[in-house]
Amino acid sequence: MRPARALIDLQALRHNYQLAREVSGAKALAVVKADAYGHGAVRCAQALQEQADGFAVACIEEALQLREAGIGGPILLLEGFFEADELALIEQQDLWCVVHSLWQLEAIERSAVVKPLTVWLKLDSGMHRVGLDPADYQAAYRRLLASGKVAKIVLMSHFARADELECPRSIEQLVVFEQARQGLVAQISLRNSPAVLGWPQVPSDWVRPGIMLYGASPFEEAQVVAAQLQPVMTLESKIISVRELPVGEPVGYGARFVTERPTRVGVVAMGYADGYPRHAPTGTPVLIDGRPSRLIGRVSMDMLCVDLSDLPGTGLGSRVELWGKRILASDVAACAETIPYQLFCNLRRVPLLYCEA
Ligand SMILES: *Cc1c(COP(=O)(O)O)cnc(C)c1O
Repeated sequence: MRPARALIDLQALRHNYQLAREVSGAKALAVVKADAYGHGAVRCAQALQEQADGFAVACIEEALQLREAGIGGPILLLEGFFEADELALIEQQDLWCVVHSLWQLEAIERSAVVKPLTVWLKLDSGMHRVGLDPADYQAAYRRLLASGKVAKIVLMSHFARADELECPRSIEQLVVFEQARQGLVAQISLRNSPAVLGWPQVPSDWVRPGIMLYGASPFEEAQVVAAQLQPVMTLESKIISVRELPVGEPVGYGARFVTERPTRVGVVAMGYADGYPRHAPTGTPVLIDGRPSRLIGRVSMDMLCVDLSDLPGTGLGSRVELWGKRILASDVAACAETIPYQLFCNLRRVPLLYCEA
């Protein structure tokens, strides 16, 4: 069998969830959208089920997948419904629903729901993606209550720049939020992972940690709370071929790497079809039998090359960690000019193997 695989450490996942709750002092919806950022939504939700106050997903398809797997309790649809006819299923499956636009509010008013819904009413406090205008917020709240279709409303918003710890924008957004909700008596939810980790001054009844659950820091620089996260995914494979090259020999597509000294090249069964980033350059860190080395040449679809020159004793069958507990996905992401979110979400083809320790 091809040796490429991703090990998922469910104990680390639970540790990270607990950390989100402890540092925020709030209830936490575990964000498991996009198949739990590539980690497998059903298995991750099952592992968190006893602990978690609830889950959050991007759409009803993802929510139904969890319900079908026996996940009870709250599941929030982070973008609400995309078409009004989803409301029947939302009611039947007891899902929580974001309302971010007036058309959704109108759809709820017109709907035939009998069992009142839990709605998270989203304010655009300055990110300018989705959310109601501050000027419309209080009226929307009152209309939802008056509709008779809604039992509970949570007030929410989302930060655009919480990962930038020196940036004043999050506090500006908080001020807009506080102004918009003046006088409303309802629970609130503002914080995603960077805000949970880095913005303790932001009040919350509910937090919405995503990337931190999977053990990756949302920050580019080191941060004290993020340092307590435990990486959940280890992406690993093995060396399937080794060759010794003299100086001046090209390696891989496009001859993007040319040996500068006699070089022992190891070929790893891992490529961009597995989700390893094609843009990772020569020098991107890897771990070979527990020892640090580097990627060389272009990543191809099913294989990539590493430098074994300084690692006597490594060779055919050596274990390669592409990211995990020692090579952080954030570091690989930085080399490839992307973010760990995208590395995780891009994972495909490799089997996911779950372990408890
Ligand atoms: C995805 C998402 C989150 C989680 O964000 P992280 O940065 O991964 O913690 C929180 N809230 C909303 C509205 C989201 O869409």
